[in-house]
Amino acid sequence: MGDKSKIQWTDATWGCVTGCSKVSAGCKNCYAETLTERFRGVPGHYFENGFDIKLRPDKLDLPRRWQKPRMVFVNSLSDIFHKDIPLDYVKQMFKVMNECPQHTFQILTKRHERMLELANEFKYSDNIWLGVSVEDNNNRERIEYLKKMPAKTKFLSLEPLIGPIYPPKKANGDFDLYFLKGINWCIIGGESGPGARPMDLSWIGPIIGLARNVGAAVFIKQMGSVLAKELGLKSRKGEDMSEWHPAWRIREFPNDKR
Ligand code: SF4
Repeated sequence: MGDKSKIQWTDATWGCVTGCSKVSAGCKNCYAETLTERFRGVPGHYFENGFDIKLRPDKLDLPRRWQKPRMVFVNSLSDIFHKDIPLDYVKQMFKVMNECPQHTFQILTKRHERMLELANEFKYSDNIWLGVSVEDNNNRERIEYLKKMPAKTKFLSLEPLIGPIYPPKKANGDFDLYFLKGINWCIIGGESGPGARPMDLSWIGPIIGLARNVGAAVFIKQMGSVLAKELGLKSRKGEDMSEWHPAWRIREFPNDKR
């Protein structure tokens, strides 16, 4: 797909692959699964195969045709480092990204192990941002994998945030308050939709503090539907930041991109 995106931190999505499989707690209410499974078995429908991995090679060249520079979220309905996506195909995607420096590509994965295994297979030009999703402290190790990657701009999608994230402890027993060193951007968001799990306001401040310690930009996307209801917000996902306490109204981009 080359759709204009409703996601506040990007301009468009580029879906050369659709489909994925669940890998951790953050995947429980996967939006992409809900969207695609609805059409499973509908003959001729784009999502006839539901959430099964499907390559979409006809979309590969799309970014070459976009004249205006865009921020492009790569594979919003999949995970580029899923083991069932052939390496050669991912290489073709990287070739396009490297040959389209006018665009900024945002890659987000929960497959941190394959991401690192393949670190030297691709060139990460400055226009290719790389991020991992971290939903709670159980998946904090993804951050350590990301830090080892050769991308210049590295980001975290802490969405859906379903638990607090603590810094690890140093050898002397103190918390390592600089453990986000090397991370340029933290996106924070609560879950929305059926079965949404609550985000707690008390989890946000410490993350902002950790980001500030290392000069990372912060983007608070939404409070999530449960917290929005609790706070009496009118926006369903709690995405209208004019309704928030001023302390949370932070929507920054790395590299002064906007
Ligand atoms: S990794 Fe992302 S796309 Fe894949 S199942 Fe989990 S939430 Fe969905």
